[in-house]
Amino acid sequence: MSVETQKETLGFQTEVKQLLHLMIHSLYSNKEIFLRELISNASDAVDKLRFEALAKPELLEGGAELKIRVSFDKDANTVTLEDNGIGMSREDVITHLGTIAKSGTADFMKNLTGDQKKDSHLIGQFGVGFYSAFIVADKVDVFSRRAGAPAAEGVHWSSKGEGDFEVATVDKADRGTRIVLHLKKGEEEFADGWRLRNIIKKYSDHIALPIELPKQVEAVEGEEKPAEEWETVNRASALWTRPRTEIKDEEYQEFYKHIGHDFENPLAWSHNKVEGKLEYNSLLYVPARAPFDLYQREAPRGLKLYVQRVFVMDQAESFLPLYLRFIKGVVDSNDLSLNVSREILQKDPIIDSMKSALTKRVLDMLEKLAKNEPEQYKGFWKNFGQVMKEGPAEDFANKEKIAGLLRFASTSDDSGEQSVSLADYLARAKEGQDKIYFLTGESYAQVKNSPHLEVFRKKGIEVLLLTDRIDEWLMSYLSEFDGKNFVDVARGDLDLGKLDSEEDKKAQEEVAKEKEGLVERLKAALGESVSEVRVSHRLTDSPAILAIGEQDLGLQMRQILEASGQKVPDSKPIFEFNPGHPLIEKLDNEQSEDRFADFSHILFDQAALAAGDSLKDPAAYVRRLNKLLVELSA
Ligand code: ADP
Ligand code: MG
Repeated sequence: MSVETQKETLGFQTEVKQLLHLMIHSLYSNKEIFLRELISNASDAVDKLRFEALAKPELLEGGAELKIRVSFDKDANTVTLEDNGIGMSREDVITHLGTIAKSGTADFMKNLTGDQKKDSHLIGQFGVGFYSAFIVADKVDVFSRRAGAPAAEGVHWSSKGEGDFEVATVDKADRGTRIVLHLKKGEEEFADGWRLRNIIKKYSDHIALPIELPKQVEAVEGEEKPAEEWETVNRASALWTRPRTEIKDEEYQEFYKHIGHDFENPLAWSHNKVEGKLEYNSLLYVPARAPFDLYQREAPRGLKLYVQRVFVMDQAESFLPLYLRFIKGVVDSNDLSLNVSREILQKDPIIDSMKSALTKRVLDMLEKLAKNEPEQYKGFWKNFGQVMKEGPAEDFANKEKIAGLLRFASTSDDSGEQSVSLADYLARAKEGQDKIYFLTGESYAQVKNSPHLEVFRKKGIEVLLLTDRIDEWLMSYLSEFDGKNFVDVARGDLDLGKLDSEEDKKAQEEVAKEKEGLVERLKAALGESVSEVRVSHRLTDSPAILAIGEQDLGLQMRQILEASGQKVPDSKPIFEFNPGHPLIEKLDNEQSEDRFADFSHILFDQAALAAGDSLKDPAAYVRRLNKLLVELSA
């Protein structure tokens, strides 16, 4: 062993300590995955080297045959992995093997409950990565040297996986990384050629470069032990270049875990070879779970880009729209140049046509999942539904397709779950119904009891209930589905079209005539608070309701804009009253104009409250109501 200089001891970032603890305690039943993770990293390191060497061939000096070697020592109870990839500098080692760089990790870790079972799911959102070495090892040594750096700039990292790690500068003859796992007592089984070979076949067969193990050569008595020979144990070809029919589900799944840095199996995948004007292979995956940083702007997203099998970049975001940012996968192009950059990708027309083709693939894959595996799709929707709702605004061309993938809560189902598709809705539509009715609001509990639904309930017409923050915005981009227009039931003058019979309509006109006087009185009493007063056809049980003007912002959009500090144009609601309601009859018969005014304002404020709005002058409401109560009991 060479001399170590500049030795220092550093503490792990708090989040690393938490992750280490979590991992060691929750993955004990699946220990062997440590090897998959370390091989995955070695393969990434080789990919990076291969790419950097395109511009700087000298980086390959001292070994252009890129590979990973796994060996073991039964006596010392160690397993060693060695790669001749890009390697790490001292700084690299300190940041990559001492911190978790993902932004938002600390906040995320605060959600840990301490319940091992529940928390183990959280690991899935990180991937397990390098630290999984400590599942089987009580000490890990990493020797690394960055490609292109002199032998004297090797680094030795060492840790027992507790609070801290040591780094020192050492000589390292070859570039790349060697990791020595000092197995824990009880984990001796891993220092074994057969065991290692099986694990590699099981999890890492898809790795595109050779993974070698020492050849099992029997030592013959009296003869000198032969020099070490190695043999490749994996298939060592890029998975996405192989024909679909020859690839097993397990292989697709393990490949996903490698490129997706995920710990769980994907929900679905789509593997395609495109030939013709453009030539490329793509392999796209839908993860089972949303990463915790799905809504962070700077969170990494995008596909792994290869050009003619050579890895070119991670997180190439130009191949898919933002609302599909959760998709993981690989695209391998024959048309792009090897020195393509992010900037070029943004402008290249080739990318545009690939992007629209890949987007279609993803939407098709989701359609298939929804159709063939509705239970799985439910899970997908829980995780990614909110993001999919960004789709219609971003991707005009695929609006109808995306709309078909949306799921909503509805009056047809008391669970409040978002499970109704627009196709389901239309299949249940009433005869003569040529509209899709919806209501937006703050919460399911609030909208499901909204007075706006009364007439729909009476007539047995289904209404979609939209309560996500993004919904009102979404609906401003969706105007129709399958030729049927969307109608916000809280907006404008509700026209039920053919759903109202001729008699209904006649009766409505008659009542409107009859109540003209009341309408005028109410207008005078409510004055500036309303834009219009009219007789309602929406109500069966409630005395009054506020409708939003056809062009006005809804409550949700108004609240969002106000919260972001924007000035929102004041819009006045339409006051509609239920002519058959006893309170309205009482109001109509009220002789004192003073009391009539108080009464009208109370009804107006109540309607605002029922719609989930807050009152402009709550004290006035209470004062008027109390006055009335006193008079009533006098
Ligand atoms: P991830 O692979 O998801 O980035 P890991 O915990 O597996 O997370 O690895 C952390 C980082 O450590 C890697 O991103 C890489 O920068 C570095 N690293 C790990 N193993 C190697 C290796 N064999 N060669 C070079 N760098 C490595
Ligand atoms: Mg990794």
